[in-house]
Amino acid sequence: MERVLSNEMQGVEEEDTLRPSTLKEYIGQAQLKENLAVFIQAAKQRNEALDHVLLYGPPGLGKTTLSYILANEMGGHIKTTSGPSIEKSGDLAAILSTLEAGDVLFIDEIHRLPKQVEEVLYPAMEDYCIDIVVGKDSSTTRSIRLDLPPFTLVGATTRAGDLTAPLRDRFGIVSQLEFYSLDELQQIIWRTSRVMDTEIEEEAVLEIALRSRGTPRIANRLFRRVRDFAQVMNDGIIDKAVAAMALDKLKVDHLGLDNVDHKYLKGIIERFKGGPVGLEALASSIGEEAMTLEDVYEPYLLQIGFINRTPRGRIVTDKAYRHLGYDMEEGLFK
Ligand code: ADP
Repeated sequence: MERVLSNEMQGVEEEDTLRPSTLKEYIGQAQLKENLAVFIQAAKQRNEALDHVLLYGPPGLGKTTLSYILANEMGGHIKTTSGPSIEKSGDLAAILSTLEAGDVLFIDEIHRLPKQVEEVLYPAMEDYCIDIVVGKDSSTTRSIRLDLPPFTLVGATTRAGDLTAPLRDRFGIVSQLEFYSLDELQQIIWRTSRVMDTEIEEEAVLEIALRSRGTPRIANRLFRRVRDFAQVMNDGIIDKAVAAMALDKLKVDHLGLDNVDHKYLKGIIERFKGGPVGLEALASSIGEEAMTLEDVYEPYLLQIGFINRTPRGRIVTDKAYRHLGYDMEEGLFK
């Protein structure tokens, strides 16, 4: 069965071609864009690097895309890496030492940086310098200070709460990315259809947008799959019927929920009487990772009011019961 939310690498190159490259082209996140435009202009007028930026929110909302845009708007280059891939402080020092003035260093999943690596970042962010320890044994080791050019660190995370206070405090700009409105998702799908030179009807755009769970990455992914069906079955034209048929085949329901969302909700309803249930207990009962459920699935279920998080655990709401076709009186499937 299809997982529309999976983070598989497939399509990553195509994802790059779909990234807008200027703030103007970046759809949605109006407030954030407006603020960033001011900060960028101010930094440029002062001939300084843009202050460090922390972007947080569920996967696929445009954090990476925005960091490329920041580099582009500042006229610098971007170096990208991720928290789990930097194991030693030397690895980070090596990356930092390649930066030029005005560059952006993007660290995805920044909450997963090892502690000793994170400590290298503190002086780098604050004073544009790093301390490197050299020497073979304790009698010859000493610390050398290396100056760095002014650069901007853009950190991205799905869990802002997992960042340590010293790291979080060193970001001058901290912003949460919001789920996209239906109108914004439609604009994104129109744009993707133009970039991919595909004919699509207005109603089909809406059909895909409705099932994209407020997330551009999912909108683009569904678009690509629908395009495949249209190519094979409909002379390449995406109309409403082919879009609906393809999306049904992909097992994405009309709110964009996939089989994992269904398993999650039915798990709480059928095994835990609708909750409250702790995340770990639920995750092991449905065979999914607690962290994936929390980072990838729950934010949207919370957003559409299908679950509530209480101190005693997760609860499924009446709205979700109705969506899944349960008879509220009997608590059974109709
Ligand atoms: P994140 O880093 O938050 O996981 P990405 O920046 O990789 O998300 O975005 C996923 C895809 O969605 C990108 O390929 C990009 O084309 C598209 N996308 C994201 N945000 C926007 C936006 N605001 N406007 C247009 N396309 C977007």
